[in-house]
Amino acid sequence: MYDLVVVGAGTAGSVAAHAASEQGLKVCLIDQKEKNTIGEKTCGDAVGIHHFNRLKIPPPKGEELANKIKGIEIFSPDLKTVFRIKGEGLHGFMVNRLEFGQRLLHNALDRDVVFFDNTTALDPIFKDECVCGVKVRNRRKNELREVFGRIIVDASGMSSVLRRKMPHDWKIERTIQNKDIEICYREIRRLAENIEDPEYCRIYLNQSISFGGYYWIFPKGNNIVNVGIGLQMINTVLNPRRQLYTHVLVNDPFIGSKNLKGSGGIVSTRRPLNCMVGNGILLVGDSACQPNPIHGGGIGPSMMAGKLAAEAICEAIEAEDVSQKQLWSYNVKYMKAYGAKAAALDIFRLFLQKCSNEDLNYGMAHRLVKENDILNASLGQDLKLNITDKARRVFRGLNKLSFLKTLYLTSKKMKEIKMLYSNYPYHIKDHEQWVNKVESIISARALI
Ligand SMILES: Cc1cc2nc3c(=O)[nH]c(=O)nc-3n(C[C@H](O)[C@H](O)[C@H](O)COP(=O)(O)OP(=O)(O)OC[C@H]3O[C@@H](n4cnc5c(N)ncnc54)[C@H](O)[C@@H]3O)c2cc1C
Repeated sequence: MYDLVVVGAGTAGSVAAHAASEQGLKVCLIDQKEKNTIGEKTCGDAVGIHHFNRLKIPPPKGEELANKIKGIEIFSPDLKTVFRIKGEGLHGFMVNRLEFGQRLLHNALDRDVVFFDNTTALDPIFKDECVCGVKVRNRRKNELREVFGRIIVDASGMSSVLRRKMPHDWKIERTIQNKDIEICYREIRRLAENIEDPEYCRIYLNQSISFGGYYWIFPKGNNIVNVGIGLQMINTVLNPRRQLYTHVLVNDPFIGSKNLKGSGGIVSTRRPLNCMVGNGILLVGDSACQPNPIHGGGIGPSMMAGKLAAEAICEAIEAEDVSQKQLWSYNVKYMKAYGAKAAALDIFRLFLQKCSNEDLNYGMAHRLVKENDILNASLGQDLKLNITDKARRVFRGLNKLSFLKTLYLTSKKMKEIKMLYSNYPYHIKDHEQWVNKVESIISARALI
């Protein structure tokens, strides 16, 4: 019997396993992949330096580090307006996912974490209304077995293999709606010529090309880029790979470029789950919908969740109490540390997904939100609007004053929901009331 069994050795699971073993717990880590492929994943590969600073995890270097980033450029659909957002808050890295993932895995293995690779978790095992283990299949031997732990962590990413099987009365959302998921395709490409300003990641908004999402070009060096596209999963007609080939790869800088690696994936773009713990179990990373709702960046939040989960797990083992009530502190700490900002950005995401290309073109051209204020909002501050008299006149002329009103209400709802998440209930008994308040803000936003 282990103290902790972690399902999934991605960024969330590897960090959780390492942090718990550092505190002296006996930890077992399970992944369905082969050991030397852990870390490889369809991703944009971008991660902010602030995550490493905050979590005191050494930043990527050597083979892990592909490129250093100074900022982001956001392009309007007509490509006429470009927001160049830079500053220390946006410094970051383009990582080589395999090498980065291998580092996090080996950090955990160096602390005597027991690792089963090629092992797929199938089902949670329950005893006395508490999760106490996992049924697994060893893929090499095609053998079924059971692995027991005092506490289990679901870090299985979007497959969320354990979360989907939690009892209804544990308040854990078992399914995620398609409207809150982006379906993506990305390629790593070698360009025929060096890209300009390789230290800037580019994000392109365009509802006809990347419906409800965006397409991106993230430089991994002077002539290597990660180029991809994400579409809101409610559109069943558009296919992300086809969209990328038809609308993006036919243009500069891709003429004469070569595909080195291509694959698809999905990522959630909503606020974190309302509740991320049950009796004997915690959810971390994509399994708990922790990526940033605006851009889908989930490496940083998943590592943060791994650390916070390990803290709550150690306290629970010490208290010899693995109940949902005891593990609840993880919910409270995560919501304060990142969930409040993510919930506010989720409201803004819902606003952006409803904007037409025309709205985005005019909104960006008139800088209804200024570059620096986007930077500040992305760092967790309130969204400051810049609705000038001139902009009002233009939008009145376009018969689009309602757009400005919606933007104003959106920023108001962002503040409200952020406050609500910052005051996440300390006690399970207050949770239902809190969820009702969240839902009323989300549904009011939907009606605007
Ligand atoms: C196209 C795309 C672009 C993205 N771009 C970025 C970006 O630029 N920056 C960023 O920060 N984030 C980005 N993300 C999100 C980011 O990749 C994830 O948020 C992050 O990897 C979360 O890690 P995780 O540990 O929760 O899950 P994962 O990294 O998915 O790890 C889950 C692990 O669980 C294992 N597993 C799954 N099911 C089972 C099972 N049944 N049994 C055993 N093992 C199992 C998997 O093999 C895997 O190793 C992107 C995602 C996508 C899809």
